[in-house]
Amino acid sequence: MSDAIVVGAGPAGALLAYMLASRGVPVTLLERQTDFSREFRGEILMPSGIAAMHEAGLRPQFDALPNLPIGTAQLFRGERLVFTAPLDGLPVHPRVVPQPAMLEMIVAKASKFHGFKLERGVTVRDLIYEKDRVVGVHADTLEGPRDFRGDFVIACDGRTSVIRKRAALPQDRIMQGFDVVWGHVPGQFPDARTARGYIGSGHLLIMYPSPEGHTQIGWVIDKGTFGDIKKMGERWIDELAPHVSPDVRQYLAANKTGLAHPFLLDVICDRLREWTAPGLLLIGDAAHPMSPVGGQGINVALRDAVVTANHLGRALKMHSDEATLDFAARNIQAERWPEITTIQDMQQIGPRFLLSNSLLSRIIVSTPMIAFAKTFLASYIARRFDPFLNGATRVVTEL
Ligand SMILES: Cc1cc2nc3c(=O)[nH]c(=O)nc-3n(C[C@H](O)[C@H](O)[C@H](O)COP(=O)(O)OP(=O)(O)OC[C@H]3O[C@@H](n4cnc5c(N)ncnc54)[C@H](O)[C@@H]3O)c2cc1C
Repeated sequence: MSDAIVVGAGPAGALLAYMLASRGVPVTLLERQTDFSREFRGEILMPSGIAAMHEAGLRPQFDALPNLPIGTAQLFRGERLVFTAPLDGLPVHPRVVPQPAMLEMIVAKASKFHGFKLERGVTVRDLIYEKDRVVGVHADTLEGPRDFRGDFVIACDGRTSVIRKRAALPQDRIMQGFDVVWGHVPGQFPDARTARGYIGSGHLLIMYPSPEGHTQIGWVIDKGTFGDIKKMGERWIDELAPHVSPDVRQYLAANKTGLAHPFLLDVICDRLREWTAPGLLLIGDAAHPMSPVGGQGINVALRDAVVTANHLGRALKMHSDEATLDFAARNIQAERWPEITTIQDMQQIGPRFLLSNSLLSRIIVSTPMIAFAKTFLASYIARRFDPFLNGATRVVTEL
């Protein structure tokens, strides 16, 4: 049996490590944080991500996590409600699931397997090469520097991946003109089932309830202007007040102090052209940091993990030679590429219209145009954007 080093215990790394361990592959999962609640990351799971958790064999544990199914999505243009989409008809609802609880559950399940080891507080700094092949990583641990060696390294270290930098694989960047400011406000507004979006005049605000008893707010800003927002303290809420309906305006005004420390999502949307090098594979945000449009990052990361476990799990379990392991890694990229490129390309469409203040986009997001789309184009739009809900390719567990 060959052993794997997985770097990063986000959705991609935690699920992959669990799936490898459940197949009897010895796996060491290295995570720089000592506690999963230290960083806010996404928490909307689409049916595609939920299906991946079920495929991984974690249905009962996942379904038992604190979660809120989103039953209704409302779209406002400024003050006016222009569209309500009941999501009750969907076979599976998008779900808000706090990531810390999900990750703790996955690693707790993984730790039931003999070959699984989670090392927290370990920050990987570099790759170890032997004869041009990756054979491990150099890391800083709470006790000092340490090397971890394995037959294959899988980098799941997220959007600022140090392994991506060290491996220097060719990369394409899709330029993004916006960032997102996140904050949360006490209470679930307007209720525990409804997500809202506010568009118009180049602005966009999204809000959704969290099972942790608050409402998450995301406000889209021009790239690079977060410094100005931070200087404003809680007064940044005054900026968005003119663009929302009166009920939200009042709700935010009453809860300003909760928003005094906003958090920046510096939006990037990149993809590595090559996800692999001898002895190494990158998946999740490490290989393809996603735009936040459509809430896709967690979902595609989980789906990467399922496909990786299919190909590499088998090869590692059979103690395959280096060429076979590298071949398996290339097949993972080949299988995931169509979905990642489809979704990243779709993610560019919305901002082009919603965030521009050009005459054309003002016409496209005008109330009569939305009413026209709602009446005549609804089924086309639902089909066109279905990959945001259900993914673009079939992802199933192969044993
Ligand atoms: C504010 C915000 C809101 C978001 N909202 C959504 C949403 O609603 N829906 C959605 O689908 N996606 C959302 N996303 C994106 C989503 O969180 C990511 O796409 C997803 O978490 C990617 O999973 P991953 O496992 O590839 O990487 P990550 O979740 O980033 O995990 C990487 C892990 O690696 C660890 N790590 C990093 N560097 C090292 C190192 N050198 N050594 C050891 N460990 C390391 C990190 O601590 C982390 O635990 C959001 C992201 C942010 C930041």
